[in-house]
Amino acid sequence: MELSERPSATGRHRKPRRAGVFGGTFDPIHLGHVETARFALAQGGLDLVLLVPAGRPWLRGEPPAASAEHRLRMTELAIQGETGLAVSDVDVMRPGETYTADTLADLRARYGDGVELVLVLGADSARSMDRWKRADELRRMCSVLVIGRPGEEWTNRLPLSHPASGAAYLEGPMLDVSATGLRARLALGDDVSDYLAPQVERYIRKHGLYGTGSAAGNKTGEEASMAQTASASQRLLERAKELGALEFGDFTLASGQKSGYYFDGRRLSLDPEGAHLVSQLFLEKIVAAGCEAAGGPTVAAVPIVGALALRSWQEGSGLTGFFVRPQAKGHGMGRQIEGSVKPGMRVAVFDDTVSTGGSLLEAIDAVQAFGCEVALVLCVLDRKQGGSDEMRRRGLPFVSLWEASPEGEVRVTEG
Ligand code: ATP
Repeated sequence: MELSERPSATGRHRKPRRAGVFGGTFDPIHLGHVETARFALAQGGLDLVLLVPAGRPWLRGEPPAASAEHRLRMTELAIQGETGLAVSDVDVMRPGETYTADTLADLRARYGDGVELVLVLGADSARSMDRWKRADELRRMCSVLVIGRPGEEWTNRLPLSHPASGAAYLEGPMLDVSATGLRARLALGDDVSDYLAPQVERYIRKHGLYGTGSAAGNKTGEEASMAQTASASQRLLERAKELGALEFGDFTLASGQKSGYYFDGRRLSLDPEGAHLVSQLFLEKIVAAGCEAAGGPTVAAVPIVGALALRSWQEGSGLTGFFVRPQAKGHGMGRQIEGSVKPGMRVAVFDDTVSTGGSLLEAIDAVQAFGCEVALVLCVLDRKQGGSDEMRRRGLPFVSLWEASPEGEVRVTEG
């Protein structure tokens, strides 16, 4: 089995000397956990704290409400950008029930003998250590740091036989929150934003975890997320009308063609709410298509690329942005494609509007010639003038948020 440890994006670190091991069900991970990990790092003399979501916590009667994959992902999101905190998937990857003795053995194998492993525990967990399986092995494997938890008075006068009897104790941030309480409040539709990192809360709602799907009108997670997508597209359309980015009347387009409407995509993607909605709607499709990079032709795609890169960072999807010039620059590095996109990557290519598809097809050609696989093509408005048909003819999956009818009516694309 390959063990991996996923540092938060800015938290890359050298081999630690004293590493905290903070295990939990993290169902979901809340700010009590994150604050405890930060505190242990800062005050516990540690140079790394590994958060280790349990695969199958044996001590609990019920299995966790969310899958191990969801809990691992939420843990990664919760510590995104934190220096000195990292997530380890050792417990999620190991089949069978999760025992801390195995966690420590796997981490010892990973880090070697030079590192001191410090088991970090909330006071409630430390107290229950005498019920843990193979707890006697732990004394030889690690030292223990107990962090206070509201409602759990800690005493150092534990019987000598108790596995936490020699533990160090620090009071810590004392945030009064539990995952059990949060799950109940999420299912009731309560506001829990004070206790969850925003990116974790977004993840929970997006995936309909902990009853948030049914709280949104007795829908399944998938139905609720489809309804949210449709309403975000509808809101984007309203916003375009409010801004005057979408107007109806008699217009003559740059091509000389007559049109019953005019759409200025830049005005929409440069608007704060417009940027928010376009990046939200595009990113969920791009992530679902498994893309590693996304971009499009200058100038229209550029503001969308910026908004997408920011959102991808906030949501932890690790997407990189790029844009494509009409020709390679005649000076500097002479690049046609700007950004950190690399040959071999799976990419999405987009524009704000597609008519006959000219500039978008040129960008697709350039990206394919560069060696990328175009897995998705997107636009805000499909004017239905042949461009989208051409993409499909070329076998490119094509998605638009809105489409225009031959009568010049613009509506949210269905399906
Ligand atoms: P549940 O309510 O479902 O038991 P929990 O909130 O206790 O969940 P766990 O994932 O079981 O979360 O806890 C992981 C570790 O974090 C444990 O060591 C626990 O004691 C500690 N912990 C959880 N919440 C806090 C908190 N608010 N303050 C300090 N430590 C905490």
